[in-house]
Amino acid sequence: MTPPVSFSAATATLPRVVVERVRQDWLDWNGTGFPVAELPFSDEGFKEIQAAAERRLRRLLAIPDDYAVLLSQGGAYGHFAMVALNLAGPAGRAGYVDSGLWSRRAMDEAAKVCDVAVVASAADDDGFRRLPLPAEWRGDEGAAYCHVTTNESAEGLQFADFPAPGPGAVPLVADMTGDFLTRPVDIRRFGLIYASAQKSLGAAGLTIIIARRDLLERRRPPLPTVFDYARLDEARSRVNTPPVLAIHLAGEMLRWMEDEGGLAVLGERRRQRCRRLYAVLDGSSAFVCRAHGADRSASTVCFHLVRPERQAEFLDRAARAGLHHLAGHPAVGGCRAMLHNAHSDTDLDRLVELLDQFARA
Ligand SMILES: *Cc1c(COP(=O)(O)O)cnc(C)c1O
Repeated sequence: MTPPVSFSAATATLPRVVVERVRQDWLDWNGTGFPVAELPFSDEGFKEIQAAAERRLRRLLAIPDDYAVLLSQGGAYGHFAMVALNLAGPAGRAGYVDSGLWSRRAMDEAAKVCDVAVVASAADDDGFRRLPLPAEWRGDEGAAYCHVTTNESAEGLQFADFPAPGPGAVPLVADMTGDFLTRPVDIRRFGLIYASAQKSLGAAGLTIIIARRDLLERRRPPLPTVFDYARLDEARSRVNTPPVLAIHLAGEMLRWMEDEGGLAVLGERRRQRCRRLYAVLDGSSAFVCRAHGADRSASTVCFHLVRPERQAEFLDRAARAGLHHLAGHPAVGGCRAMLHNAHSDTDLDRLVELLDQFARA
């Protein structure tokens, strides 16, 4: 039987070797006789796991030394408000690029704790089909930061590039949850990046924050202690109990990504795969991609059926072929395939074949 493949945009696909390694460690970590989950977070063993994960992340993304790597919780959704609290605060103001469902949610949460200004929007009557590119962003003098969602996972839109910060520029803050560790990025373009771990790094419960340290000094207390980014940095992300299992899994995922050759290799592989997918979708009369050509995501490929009443049949046929979780985000509808680093060429072949056959039938 062909193994089932997940294209879910909610959880990462895990490489088989990672699952096997983690299974061993979760039973007996490093010959200690203890499962990883039993390691107290003050234990040297856990500190070693955490430090190794951070070293790998720093190498993979070439994170400069003046940037902190923080391991937090709460998910990206939790940090929508936390980012605003830490960087703008109650009297502050922040600019937001309005690009899709996730940027709207980020804005709504930030608006609860600071003033929010929309610096650009590409919404039209049909929702979001293109991105407002940096040249269209209005500067906002009083803004503490400018927020961008690098990959709009519900609509299938992804920014290809980000502006280089000029002297005294408003720092760019990015929700990178939708395409974290899918391609190389120039960390210096950003003041702060945050991402939930479960879409590329394994399991929910861990949120990664990469922040230029001088920005963390701008915080305006009072802040909840565990979400005070400067405090997290001082305490090496151990203000309170970190999610030990999720961090262990993330460390093993990062090891695997390094073994695969790093983000340039994974990014190129992904580019080729998504080009194939979009070509099949564009070439068929059964499917339509709404996202504007240059803004199409290489992470979340979103498409609709020309005859929407046949979508249930399509998803059913996919599931019978072992291809799962292809339904789109409920708020947007349609279908969606998230391309995961751990997918094989065969997984892609199977999806392409399914689309082809369905279109011809
Ligand atoms: C999934 C997703 C989120 C939400 O992540 P949670 O971990 O559920 O909070 C936020 N932003 C983007 C771009 C996403 O794709």
